[in-house]
Amino acid sequence: MAKSKILRGMTHDGSARVLVINSTEMVNEMQRLHGTYPTATAALGRLITCASMVGTMLPAEGDTVTVNIASDGEISKLIAVADYYGTVKAYINNPYSDPARRPDGKLNVGGAVGAGSISFIKDISGHEPQIGTVELTSGEIAEDIATYFARSEQIPTLLSLGVLVNPDLGCQAAGGVLIQLMPYPDDATVDALEKNASRISNVSGLINSGMTSQEIFALACEGIEYDLFDEIEVDYKCDCERARMLEKIKSLGKGEIVGMLDEQEAEGKGRSLTAVCRFCNTNYTFNEKELLG
Ligand code: ZN
Repeated sequence: MAKSKILRGMTHDGSARVLVINSTEMVNEMQRLHGTYPTATAALGRLITCASMVGTMLPAEGDTVTVNIASDGEISKLIAVADYYGTVKAYINNPYSDPARRPDGKLNVGGAVGAGSISFIKDISGHEPQIGTVELTSGEIAEDIATYFARSEQIPTLLSLGVLVNPDLGCQAAGGVLIQLMPYPDDATVDALEKNASRISNVSGLINSGMTSQEIFALACEGIEYDLFDEIEVDYKCDCERARMLEKIKSLGKGEIVGMLDEQEAEGKGRSLTAVCRFCNTNYTFNEKELLG
């Protein structure tokens, strides 16, 4: 399948930057790694779709943004981490969340997520981590993120995110449109963007109907002059490494590690420890020699 891509541009008058992502492949990779059920796929799929776009707005290589949702719903925890290249990895506490559909037939993402908070943590080189948190508005993800940007960063944001799940649990189409106003935007441009917003509200449906990112961009900016800058490939990719995982366990201290090895032995297992990467579910098993060496 074609790689996920982000199309970036700006209104010609400098009032707003506009990003359009087709994240179908990225969401499929996430679904494959985490084995998510449809509602969980939609929730985490929407989150990584947006995180990838926000990642590409970071100032420099090496910077990251982490989006954390902590809630009282059955999903309870969602994490997406994106870098400067828009590469994402993600975690979901309950990948099997799939409550009954809403009366309108749509996946009940808001019901699965519930009430809670959403935080953005930006790790930007040379700065203390910047953390902003707001309460969830609806648990439907796009609305929650738009609220975060408006309240925490004072950036008026129009955001549409969509994930269409197949009966075989794969992702049929996924994508998003992120529009952020720059300081002192032109009133007529803002009015036009707001007027066009309803036309891009079903972004996964537009992608599924065969529309390209360029066509979706044009729909979002109808009646407005704009410039397209570039289109970049983005991925779901974990950066975990065996050596780093070992260092993490070793940081627990020898006493703690010996205690865990003793427990394993008492349960009739070998004297080894297995760590699972929560972003890609890779298992790393270390023997006693490695752990205490
Ligand atoms: Zn990993």
